Amino acid sequence: KYMIKLSHIKKVYDTPSGSLQALKDISLTVEDGDIYGIIGLSGAGKSTLVRCINMLERPTEGTVEIDGQDLTKMNEAQLRSVRKNIGMIFQQFNLLSSATVYENVAFPLKLSGMAKKDIEKKVMPLLKLVGLEQKARQYPSQLSGGQKQRVGIARALASDPSILLCDEATSALDPQTTQSILRLIKKINEELGITVVIITHEMQVIKDICTKVAVIDHGVIAEKGSVIEVFMNP
Ligand code: ADP
Ligand code: ADP
Repeated sequence: KYMIKLSHIKKVYDTPSGSLQALKDISLTVEDGDIYGIIGLSGAGKSTLVRCINMLERPTEGTVEIDGQDLTKMNEAQLRSVRKNIGMIFQQFNLLSSATVYENVAFPLKLSGMAKKDIEKKVMPLLKLVGLEQKARQYPSQLSGGQKQRVGIARALASDPSILLCDEATSALDPQTTQSILRLIKKINEELGITVVIITHEMQVIKDICTKVAVIDHGVIAEKGSVIEVFMNP
């Protein structure tokens, strides 16, 4: 059964020097339980594509279906509720620097109006899952890059999403730290049953953990399929 279905997505940006077609005709299906990789060079349209999945960007044309619901037909209030089901992590982590690790993970729950004691019951197990239970009172500036991304992952999981979007989530990390973050993402996929979409320009990331891949080039899908079909065949 499919989780995310993008059909004929086009995205045109209006820029001072004219209109720019970032996505031309993108269709892809992510199934429940996939770790789906989207790879391409800088400027290929990857970030635009991942932002269309949670409607941070509205596609100019096409439909985005999640669990059978078309997000392109929804208003902002409906989208806010759907977005609770979609966690996201970023290359630059996007943590609040004046908040502790605990507060960063608690933040989305606080916004949603959850009671303090319920927030605590939620946050501490998440910090344990990502291996940071000893760091709850530290600030982001006291953490390594890998630890910051672990906070980002815990925060993304706070609202119990069924989808995790990763936008160049390991691109700011050294190879060894990248491996440990990828292992954590795989564990989240396997143990929590969360469907994962990974945007990257690094082939190794795709080969290490993705089940399927789409290669994107100048706003079109050049190739897609299982990682073995796309990369291992002559
Ligand atoms: P990637 O993530 O693969 O590097 P992007 O999706 O960021 O690619 O960008 C695809 C194209 O769209 C690029 O030419 C980029 O300059 C352009 N673009 C991205 N975001 C915007 C924006 N907000 N306004 C105008 N052009 C944009
Ligand atoms: P407030 O709602 O006033 O912001 P919180 O109760 O959310 O206060 O948090 C107060 C401080 O205690 C924060 O710095 C937070 O990091 C820390 N904190 C709260 N609960 C825990 C916990 N279970 N373990 C570790 N630190 C915690």
